[in-house]
Amino acid sequence: MLDQLDNIQRNALDSLAQVHDEPALDNWRITHLGRSSPLMLVFAGFGAVPKEERAAVGQAANRTKLALEAALADTASSLRQQALERSLAEGHLDVTLPGRPIRRGRLHPSTQQLRRVLSILAEMGFQVYTSPEVETDRMNFQLLNFPPHHPARDMQDSLYVDVPDRGDDQILLRTHTSPGQIRAMREFAAADPKNPPPIRIALPGMCFRHEQITARSEVQFNQVEGLAVGEHITFSDLKGTLTNFARRMFGQGARVRFRASYFPFTEPSAEMDVECFVCGGVGCPVCKGSGWLEILGSGMVHPTVLENGGYDPRRYTGFAFGMGPERQLMLRYRIEDIRYFWGNDIRFLEQF
Ligand SMILES: [Zn+2]
Repeated sequence: MLDQLDNIQRNALDSLAQVHDEPALDNWRITHLGRSSPLMLVFAGFGAVPKEERAAVGQAANRTKLALEAALADTASSLRQQALERSLAEGHLDVTLPGRPIRRGRLHPSTQQLRRVLSILAEMGFQVYTSPEVETDRMNFQLLNFPPHHPARDMQDSLYVDVPDRGDDQILLRTHTSPGQIRAMREFAAADPKNPPPIRIALPGMCFRHEQITARSEVQFNQVEGLAVGEHITFSDLKGTLTNFARRMFGQGARVRFRASYFPFTEPSAEMDVECFVCGGVGCPVCKGSGWLEILGSGMVHPTVLENGGYDPRRYTGFAFGMGPERQLMLRYRIEDIRYFWGNDIRFLEQF
């Protein structure tokens, strides 16, 4: 019986030497220390051992059991240690590696261009004046000399807000930044109604029109508008200011020309063209062969508009102009499709 216990121990330890991972160790424990293992069968058959041998066999069986349990604990602990070392070696941390770069955001190209325009206008004395994007028909059209049913409204298809019982004074998303002219004039005039102060402001912001979205037209776009009101302001002030603006924006050599045009809220009105900066005026696809690019609309503020703003047109005159930052970017970078601006495609946006 004692020999048998020796064999059991030797077999078990030999087989433990072949164990290299946790599942194998678990199997080993079941095989050699489990309920039906050879050692446990010795304990189970203890009753059949002759009386005089029982003490010796019992002690030997217990020694074997303790030896196997100790060997099991050793192996388990060394397997854990190996696993830890392996995981440290595989996933080791190199603190000298450069970190993952955090991608920096940037301003939207329209915002960049808007700021370029505003910074030039600021140097020329124009202060930024912001006004609401949701307007009344009165502010957006009527006070700017577009009466209801005026044909010029057809150029500015509008997005109306559904508010009942407002008659001719519907709520709409502004179709241009010009309602800000009325708001600004009224605010300035209110400070001193008998003697309204002169005004030089820039009105930037988003405008909305009910357009079919195509490569050429969008339902939303930015505008920047300028307004100067005061005594003795003439058309030559308009031409001088805008020519100066164009030179700062497109280069000191930039040539400009004015063409007669029509807007309900200015009289006389003019479009300003700048010599094509792509071909230098020779003619190219960007300027459609003409050598000129249309960049803004302008004119002397209509007397009715001055009056609606609280400025007496017999004493005050003024000029106004408006331009589109997206249009300027499209010309400058030959962007073929206006939908890129609000399409949220990072491949487009990150080029600016
Ligand atoms: Zn050209």
